[in-house]
Amino acid sequence: MNSATEHAADTPRIYSLKNVNRVFGKGKDELQVLCGVDLSLHEGEIVGMLGRSGSGKSTLLRIIAGLIQPSSGDVLYNGAPLNGPAEGVAMVFQTFALFPWLTVLENVEAGLQALQVERKESRRRALAAIDLIGLDGFENAYPRELSGGMRQRVGFARGLVVNPTLLLMDEPFSALDVLTAETLRTDLLDLWSGKQLPIKSILIVTHNIEEAVLMCDRILVLSSNPGRVVAEIKVPFAHPRNRLAPTFRQMVDDIYALMTDRRSADVKGIPELKMGSLLPQVSTNLMAGLIETLAAEPYNGHAGLPTVAERRLLEVDDLFPVAEMLEHLGFAELKGADITLTDAGKLFADYGTQERKTLFAEHLIRHVPLAARIHQVLLERSGHRAPRVRFEQELEDSMTEAFVEKTLESVVAWGRYAEIFSYDDHTETFSLDDVEGSM
Ligand code: ADP
Ligand code: MG
Repeated sequence: MNSATEHAADTPRIYSLKNVNRVFGKGKDELQVLCGVDLSLHEGEIVGMLGRSGSGKSTLLRIIAGLIQPSSGDVLYNGAPLNGPAEGVAMVFQTFALFPWLTVLENVEAGLQALQVERKESRRRALAAIDLIGLDGFENAYPRELSGGMRQRVGFARGLVVNPTLLLMDEPFSALDVLTAETLRTDLLDLWSGKQLPIKSILIVTHNIEEAVLMCDRILVLSSNPGRVVAEIKVPFAHPRNRLAPTFRQMVDDIYALMTDRRSADVKGIPELKMGSLLPQVSTNLMAGLIETLAAEPYNGHAGLPTVAERRLLEVDDLFPVAEMLEHLGFAELKGADITLTDAGKLFADYGTQERKTLFAEHLIRHVPLAARIHQVLLERSGHRAPRVRFEQELEDSMTEAFVEKTLESVVAWGRYAEIFSYDDHTETFSLDDVEGSM
């Protein structure tokens, strides 16, 4: 079924975004997440959006769904400017946001609540969606009785029950195990190819290149910092696609190279961390592991990121945040698709455990303003303690609560490793207790 690709450009345009920008935060903490995004979605196509974590994919989906507004630019839905939540657009999320106290049937019906469909009709449509998506017989089960794959099917059914024009999917398979994810992808493609779905177009966000090449007619590649569309790739293969076909492999490799080439993927390079920057969830173990890998044979301090990813069996999405954090901390430099250890990075590799901690502590305080702030506040306070809320409040000026949570989690883990402060989960207090040499 190749027709979707060929006809896509000629079929009616469902969405068109022109020069869409989105900024979060204010003043010195301002962060431009999306920059000059142009895209269109046509009837009859599955479009993929590939980009690294933090590149603004979810933000873009929320703009398309009308849940948030762009800072500037135009969003046209069926030719008219979009104001508020878009009717006929359904969203499927990565984690199965199901109501635990409702049955499968009730969860699917919940998708219709906002539409005020009459009760009998609502039930009929929910049962049809359940049937379509292969949940027959599970109508009265509760989410806790279902496997991850079945729960995500409920998520799909809840999206489909509204008979959407456009289905938006935000990494819908990434929380599933490999086999379950593949089954769901295939089932969805079968329904789509067999024209059993009422949907006119699907936009699927993913950081998995193979998934995009397997499912999509067209792939948009989003860069990071800020997110812009840096490439558009037509996928000409007929369904069902063969992952092992040389042309398939070649396309995956080409996209991989494109995404790891920072000359095209990153316009500005890596911005310095600020007090209000969201800190990535990268463990010190992963950072140390990458430094060790790079320092050792055959790399001797210098390597191409795609090669490292391949050898370590990592997804681009897992490797990049680690590499970027090493750059932020001054342990490595990224240039093009290459990563090179700095002198500090080489020292780290040579050092033993305690020396590593000391070196890491120095770099953490120098390059991560939040870590420096916490350390400084603790030094200045009598008793050398400060409640978590002290920093939460400061961060909440520039970030939403969920981001504050993640950011503090990261800085706590790094600070503990570096032994620049400790943190008590029960009392939610930072302190210099048991911290040696820093007082
Ligand atoms: P992706 O889905 O590609 O991982 P997101 O769209 O979730 O990316 O986030 C892109 C960037 O925007 C991130 O740096 C994130 O910190 C920032 N961001 C997203 N939503 C908000 C928000 N509500 N407040 C502040 N920053 C945000
Ligand atoms: Mg996202």
